[in-house]
Amino acid sequence: MLIPMTFRRIIPLSVKTALKRIYYFGNSCICNVCHSRLRYFRPAGLAHEVIDELMIIGGGLYEHDICPVCLSSYRQRSLMLYLQKNKLIRNYASVLHIAPEVGLYRALKKNISGQYVCGDFDPQLYAEIDSMVKIDVTKIAFPDNYFEFILCNHVLEHIPADLTAMKDIYRVLAIGGTAILQVPISLLLSETREGNGFENEEQRISLFGQKDHVRVYAMDYVNRLKSVGFLVSMVPVNSLIDSGNDGKMHLDEREILFVCSKNQ
Ligand SMILES: [Zn+2]
Repeated sequence: MLIPMTFRRIIPLSVKTALKRIYYFGNSCICNVCHSRLRYFRPAGLAHEVIDELMIIGGGLYEHDICPVCLSSYRQRSLMLYLQKNKLIRNYASVLHIAPEVGLYRALKKNISGQYVCGDFDPQLYAEIDSMVKIDVTKIAFPDNYFEFILCNHVLEHIPADLTAMKDIYRVLAIGGTAILQVPISLLLSETREGNGFENEEQRISLFGQKDHVRVYAMDYVNRLKSVGFLVSMVPVNSLIDSGNDGKMHLDEREILFVCSKNQ
């Protein structure tokens, strides 16, 4: 959508969103994050052999991925669908969103009047998100049992000490709270592929499918989450999809949501 840069800077976000909705309007796609009907979703991701070879869900090239209005990906739409169907979008007192996705952030922000903390190890990467804070996911600078709801999607596969990160997310989650912790996951590997010494980007791409990933999780990911105390509910995305318009969200029906809770 060609709007000169000078105007883009001064047009309020709500007006920009409304203009994009009109420009991209169509009946082929539905974005449940920004509630738009669209002509298309943009492709995103990079194809690598290992992604297909290991059947890695949540990695690689997706032809119908990015919403041109809110920039949400299919991953954000599937997560939003889960939240919508389980009435989990509500007025929490405290929410932690690690490595926040801009589409989800804008949708959730409207509903959270309590504390909504958005953080990342490198907060400067998030120009479109207000009040980003620095969060080291292995050492989260908040008290025990602090957050009622935590989102941390596609982060743990970047973290060498992933168990330390899981323990700290568990620590700051309130008793009775919910954390959704998505990662790319192989449906074919019998155990998580990782190891030391993969300093070379080429090696990491060929083994893990992305230059900044340090592992490919297998379904034993669930055991890691349980080992730090989480109760884990695996929710297949295809169980959320109704006949009718849900197909227009272009979700990956093989995806599984890892919904974690803490009961003590
Ligand atoms: Zn959207």
